[in-house]
Amino acid sequence: MALLNTNAPIDYAFDAQHIWHPYTSMTQALPVYGVVSAQGCELTLDNGKVLVDGTSSWWSCVHGYSHPTILAAMQKQLTQLSHVMFGGITHQPAIEVSKRLVQMTSANLTKVFLADSGSIAVEVALKMALQYWQGRNKPQKQRIMTVKSGYHGDTFAAMSVCDPDGGMHTMFGNNVTKQVFIPAPTSKFDEPLNQTDITALENAFSQHHQDIAAVIIEPIMQGAGAMRFYSPAYLVKLRQLCDQYNVLLILDEIATGFGRTGTLFAYEHANIEADILCVGKALTGGYISLAATLCSDEVANGISDSPAGVFMHGPTFMGNPLACAAATASLDLLLTGDWLQQVKDIETHLLQTLPAAIKSKQVKDVRVLGSVGIIEMHSPVNTSALQKAFVELGVWVRPFSRYIYIMPPYTISAQQLTQLTSAMLMVADTIASSQSD
Ligand code: PLP
Repeated sequence: MALLNTNAPIDYAFDAQHIWHPYTSMTQALPVYGVVSAQGCELTLDNGKVLVDGTSSWWSCVHGYSHPTILAAMQKQLTQLSHVMFGGITHQPAIEVSKRLVQMTSANLTKVFLADSGSIAVEVALKMALQYWQGRNKPQKQRIMTVKSGYHGDTFAAMSVCDPDGGMHTMFGNNVTKQVFIPAPTSKFDEPLNQTDITALENAFSQHHQDIAAVIIEPIMQGAGAMRFYSPAYLVKLRQLCDQYNVLLILDEIATGFGRTGTLFAYEHANIEADILCVGKALTGGYISLAATLCSDEVANGISDSPAGVFMHGPTFMGNPLACAAATASLDLLLTGDWLQQVKDIETHLLQTLPAAIKSKQVKDVRVLGSVGIIEMHSPVNTSALQKAFVELGVWVRPFSRYIYIMPPYTISAQQLTQLTSAMLMVADTIASSQSD
């Protein structure tokens, strides 16, 4: 049988007619760029053009592409055991990745559920919280509290805890989980907690705690819903209220986990512990899909005491060995490597360059934390047009809504980073001059 010809020309016509891309219409195909290979921090297009990647393929590819260590681990695993069901069976790759997760997260998180994607890790977290309270004889605790401007994924329960106002899921979000929304945090990363946030949090808890199972939040950075950083003191207050009112705290570290904001996990900025923690994206270094939901002994015990007696979730590809082998290699690279210095260097560069954008009237704000750099415009940008402008400048950046932002692989060189930030400033400037004409 003929193998897939990996050098065949990209069939753009078929793609446009038949294949959905994220958040697109099948009747108005938008331009897509054919990528044929990726190495280090660069993507190579089918026309030979090489682009410096500013996205880490949506937060995931932290070590860069085609890293020999991860490729070798996957190749070895592929020939030995690429997949096997996880029901009634275990394997060392699942054990190795779980050992590392237990070791690198806070000491109270001892149990690992290996899920297949970030959204599923969130579903699992929400189900854990609902089942836990059934095991603690508080079956009325079945609502989830969430924060406006949040983003937690595209599956039904995950959508229902995303931003409710003009967010990505307004057509579906109210269908499943019974949620309570808290206003988005307003205290900025380097600020103490302001009275508006304190009042909003205290009111939400005192009013609703009796039927709240858990609160879910992206620690320190609200990603796809807002692209902004908030005060660690907000998380400290949230943890305190969760303890006071018997509410579980779910931290969604799917985007922020594994070093992105300058600490291994973003919750470390606030020095707090989650009851349930979701990780994904960079878990495998972006080589294959895997996510995980960790929880405390107490949560696991509550679930065992629930009427079902077992946790009611078990996907077909749970604990896929190939993904676990990639994740183990990726975590080893992280734990033995220089990510802390790399992220600091990226942060320093972003802080030295991006604030120059502020001089344009169309730029509302510039924000940097760890290896994330954001230029927020006053009005929404045209993603396709800007993407094209970035490709012409030799970089891969995918703006959305009002945000032009990057979160490059940690291994990016100073020269590549300069190329990215120069392109961001140029594009922001072009928007500003075209809009002031
Ligand atoms: N949670 C957060 C904070 C995310 O940023 C994302 C994805 O962007 C998800 C959950 C969903 O992850 P996935 O796209 O892997 O389902």
